Amino acid sequence: MEKTFRAIRVEEVAAGKYDQQLVERRLGELPDNPLLLAVSHSSLNYKDALSAFGNRAITREYPHTPGIDAVGSVVEDRSGTYSPGDQLLVTGYDLGMNTSGGLAERIAIPEGWALPLPGGLSARESMILGTAGLTAALCVEKLLEAGAKPEDGEVLVTGATGGVGSIAVSLLAKLGFRVAAVTGKLESSEFLTDLGAWKVLDRETLVPFASKAMVKPLWAWAVDTVGGETLFNVIKSLAYGGGVAACGMASGAQFQANVFPFILRGVSLLGVDSVELPLGKKTAVWEKLAGDWYIGKQLDRLAEDISLEQAPEFLARLHRGHGIGRYVVDMA
Ligand code: NDP
Repeated sequence: MEKTFRAIRVEEVAAGKYDQQLVERRLGELPDNPLLLAVSHSSLNYKDALSAFGNRAITREYPHTPGIDAVGSVVEDRSGTYSPGDQLLVTGYDLGMNTSGGLAERIAIPEGWALPLPGGLSARESMILGTAGLTAALCVEKLLEAGAKPEDGEVLVTGATGGVGSIAVSLLAKLGFRVAAVTGKLESSEFLTDLGAWKVLDRETLVPFASKAMVKPLWAWAVDTVGGETLFNVIKSLAYGGGVAACGMASGAQFQANVFPFILRGVSLLGVDSVELPLGKKTAVWEKLAGDWYIGKQLDRLAEDISLEQAPEFLARLHRGHGIGRYVVDMA
């Protein structure tokens, strides 16, 4: 009899209504890709929540298994690149979007999507970081490349309790920056100060900026995971020569802007993508996360371990913007 494995399956049960269930699937139902992995851990990202609730910009066809992150061991590699038992890490590309994803005990992927699990990181730690950690590291790299230094002043992080936001807070604090963490969950202030935030601000602090063309310079640099109107509110409050690494759209994709912060203060809008980034560059950033940028005990502070059965409940939480830190799905 053909082997089966457990997976989350999202189905459109009525027009526009999506249901997430734990099901048994057959190996033969996976896409015909050369690299078969036994997944030990996955994680939940905002994009998985969008896929789980029927966002067709992320996933075109249902039923579907979300999960843009996975780590596990090689079962078979028909490309000849890897050997059975090798520990590999996968984030992004098409995993969990239109290719059956990591919220499952097995994935079948092109060999060019995976990289060896960096030495120094456990499988679980790699999923505490996951796409969120890679993205946060890319945001920090963008700021450093633009010249950011701790003595410049405060760095603002929006969506600070979320996956990308909380890891950005940890990384920036580790590198000596004073972080102003913006959140809609002031009740989680201690979580943010434990990660190293210098101060915690209510999301509402930025709202009055919306009616002004510019506001007084408040932050030297910023990481924005929220997008929408928040992104331009951040841009108009940056100090002269500052910049914002923009990676997210948790509050929306559109924003209205004017040119004043760019032409009067020389600020920069720095775009960040972690999904289609070439594998060599991804590998280099992962080596950094496992090496000089290893955030040590903060990893446990960030993580909540959940089972595959619990994934639907936690995806709903992320979808409502109620997530805190990172959720690791343990299938070991
Ligand atoms: P999470 O769901 O973990 O975190 C998002 C956080 O944003 C929430 O916890 C909340 O934090 C804040 N937020 C949610 N809704 C709103 C709102 N309406 N207005 C203001 N703030 C809000 O998501 P991730 O960390 O996984 O992802 C964050 C963003 O980054 C997403 O848009 C995601 O798509 C994007 N992303 C982009 C990548 C890239 O390659 N460019 C890769 C990974 C993620 P709080 O309550 O603290 O304010």
